[in-house]
Amino acid sequence: MIIFGHRATRIGSVDLYGTSCNYCEQSNSQEITVFGRYAHVFWIPMFPLGKVVVSECNHCMRTIRRNEFTPQLSRKYEEQKNRLKTPFWHWIGLIIIGLLIALISITAKSTPTDPRAKLLNRDLDSMVLNPSQQEDSIAFHIESMMELFVDEENHPERFKYAVKQKEDKILVLMKVPTLKQVRKKNRTEILDMINTSLETEEGIQGKEIYIGVEGKYTIMLLQTPKTIKNGRFISESPLYEFYGQLPLKKNKKAPPLFDKILSKLDQNKDGEVSRIEAKGILLKEFGDIDTDGNEFVTREEFEVHMIRKEKLKNNF
Ligand SMILES: [Zn+2]
Repeated sequence: MIIFGHRATRIGSVDLYGTSCNYCEQSNSQEITVFGRYAHVFWIPMFPLGKVVVSECNHCMRTIRRNEFTPQLSRKYEEQKNRLKTPFWHWIGLIIIGLLIALISITAKSTPTDPRAKLLNRDLDSMVLNPSQQEDSIAFHIESMMELFVDEENHPERFKYAVKQKEDKILVLMKVPTLKQVRKKNRTEILDMINTSLETEEGIQGKEIYIGVEGKYTIMLLQTPKTIKNGRFISESPLYEFYGQLPLKKNKKAPPLFDKILSKLDQNKDGEVSRIEAKGILLKEFGDIDTDGNEFVTREEFEVHMIRKEKLKNNF
């Protein structure tokens, strides 16, 4: 429930000298008060709705509105109204919303997008109304099935199709512009029809099946080997798996240190470093590393040594 409405607060007043009340004829008894009206949502001011200007007589207590002001009152008000401005906090709701939108757009820009989202968008763009039997026979068969079994009121002639295959995976994309109008629990019938159609295809057996069904704007229904999602605001990300796992970060897996040492120092390529071949820190610590004292450092001796060093470092 959203509670909204409008309220007014007193912005300020104009003292009047040399005017007299139209009703009681008392002079110097009037005061002009300016109220600012603003729209609020949950009592947070959103934006101003204009001013209400009234003149009150402190003597007879009569109040008159701006349109009833005498020319004299009007003039006095016009002279001083510039200092009776709408306070900025009447805008505070819109200011906060503006800041939030700015913040969200900054965050959205700094979040790296999944490169697979691009691939999916590209494939969604490739959907066509009438897939040809030669170029995309699977899509052609799915379309035939939809034309046969989907009610006319859902306009199967407006559906679009694309089928992509990748190694042991198949991705079926469909656009159903009327999907929003179909009752949620009935939408999965589209998946059933696609799956049934795929069962009759040759060469599909054993493949992982991915299905994405787009409504008017976004994917509202999807199926992967792991999940089925159905809803107006689902994430399309489960379909990304069709395109594979994200590549690991570069340099995450550097070659083991000993391989580097071997490539530099092991001149006779016997997979061990002799005292003669050793240099630098390896030579300095040779006695410690070469635990069996055979004057050769093996991979095992080197790794045991490194683990021991790591443990010592962590103890301090
Ligand atoms: Zn009066």
